[in-house]
Amino acid sequence: MPITPFHFGPGALIKAVAPKHVSWTTFALANCLIDLEPILYFLFTGEPAHRFLHTLPGATLAALIAIWPGKPGCEMMLRFWNRRLDVRQAKWLGTGAAIANVPAVMGALLGAWTHIALDAAMHAAMRPFWPLLESNPWHGWLSVDGLHWLCMGSGLLALVVWLGIHSRRA
Ligand SMILES: [Zn+2]
Repeated sequence: MPITPFHFGPGALIKAVAPKHVSWTTFALANCLIDLEPILYFLFTGEPAHRFLHTLPGATLAALIAIWPGKPGCEMMLRFWNRRLDVRQAKWLGTGAAIANVPAVMGALLGAWTHIALDAAMHAAMRPFWPLLESNPWHGWLSVDGLHWLCMGSGLLALVVWLGIHSRRA
């Protein structure tokens, strides 16, 4: 990997910068769908292999699933989230439950493609450009430490931006 939640950091930053154009929920769902692959491989073979869903065509397929049927599922989850908040929590943590089509598509595709770019840096055996290329030209474009700093740093930066926006509104 980086393990799945690390991928959410860049997604949170993209969402903080372009809140109306990107759905963080479909971004996160695409990442989770892609990482079901190494998890299931690990459970069944003992090796967390990064195969089809860790190629650009496979990740794009995962993004399409995150859009449909994923988007209605995400909206249901957001409605559930909102219902669990009291009035004070809702002021900070409440969110619109409807996800428009463009943000859903942007979130899912950015989630899938950033996932491949980040994972490919770490896993030599990945084939991001399959079937055109059997090798991984992106391996090592960033060190493992660099990946973790990038993911955590972007998540923290997103939090700062989000707090800034909400403080001004409050
Ligand atoms: Zn992955």
